[in-house]
Amino acid sequence: MGNPTLSKVEGCLIGTALGDGLGEYPYIWDSDKPIPPTDDTVMTLALAEVLFKNGQYDPQKVAEKYFELYKEGTLTKIGYTTLKALERFEKTKNWFYSGVIGERAAGNGVAMRIAPLGIFAFLKKVPIEDFYEWVRWEGYITHRNELAIEGAFAVALGVFFALNELPKEEIYRKTLTLLKDFGMESPLKWNLSQIPNLLKEATEKALPTLGTSGYVVHTVASAFYLFLKEEDFLEGLRKLVKVGGDTDTVGAIYGALYGSYYGSGKFPNRLVERLEIKPQVDRFVGILKNFFEC
Ligand SMILES: [Mg+2]
Repeated sequence: MGNPTLSKVEGCLIGTALGDGLGEYPYIWDSDKPIPPTDDTVMTLALAEVLFKNGQYDPQKVAEKYFELYKEGTLTKIGYTTLKALERFEKTKNWFYSGVIGERAAGNGVAMRIAPLGIFAFLKKVPIEDFYEWVRWEGYITHRNELAIEGAFAVALGVFFALNELPKEEIYRKTLTLLKDFGMESPLKWNLSQIPNLLKEATEKALPTLGTSGYVVHTVASAFYLFLKEEDFLEGLRKLVKVGGDTDTVGAIYGALYGSYYGSGKFPNRLVERLEIKPQVDRFVGILKNFFEC
C-alpha cells in the first residue's frame, strides 16, 4: 500500500479484527479456518462506515446503524450494557436516551469500538474539544458512564497520535496529559500511570496487575501496555490469551493501537486473508482512497 496513512488506517481495522477474532477464538489460530468477528469488530466497522459516509459525526445515525445490526443478528457476543441500551433505543428511538446509567456501565463497550473516531479526527483535523465531545456522545449511545467515556477517549487519542507518526512513548505520554487536561483524575488514569514501571516486568506478570477484565479501567490499561511492550503482535496476543479475561476486547484495542502505529503490512498475510470481514475492510479503504485523492 503506497500511502502510509492509508496503511495505518487499514492496519487499525485489521488489528481490531485480528485481536478480536483471535482473542475470542484462540483454538482456531493454528488452523486454516476463517477468523470470525465479534461485536468489537462489527461495531467498529459500523462506526467507520457511518462516519465516512456522512462526512461528520452524527450519533443518531450511528445508533440507528447499531440497532439495525442488532436486529439483523450480526452483533455476536454483545455485552450486557450494550444490549440494554439497544433495547432502550428500540423504545425511545433517540440516541441521547438510550445509554445505560450507573456503575455497571463502566464496561469497555465504547472503548472497543471507538478507534474510527480517532481516525476521523486525524483525517479531518477535528479540534480537540469537538473530538472529545463526539467521544462523549458515542458513549451516551450505550454507556452513560464517565469511566467508559474516558476509556474510549484514551483509545481514540492513542489511535489519533499513532496516525500522527509519534513514537510509542510520546503516544502514551500525550494521551495521559490530555486525560489530565480534561480533568480526568480517575482510576483509569491511575492504572495507566502504572505502565512505565510494569514495562520492566514480564507481560504475563504485568497484565494481571493491570487487570484484563471487562471493566474499562482494566481493559484499556492492558491494551496500552501490550501496545507499548510487545513488538510482535501475535506474541503479545498469545500472552494475553494465556492470562485470560476479556481477551477479545483487550485484543481488539491492542490491535487498533498496534495497527495504527505500524500499518497493515506488519500483520502476517496468512492471518489477514482469513479474516471474514476482510472484504468490508477493503471496501472501506477504497472509500478512503477517494478521500485522499480529493
Ligand atoms: Mg466481543
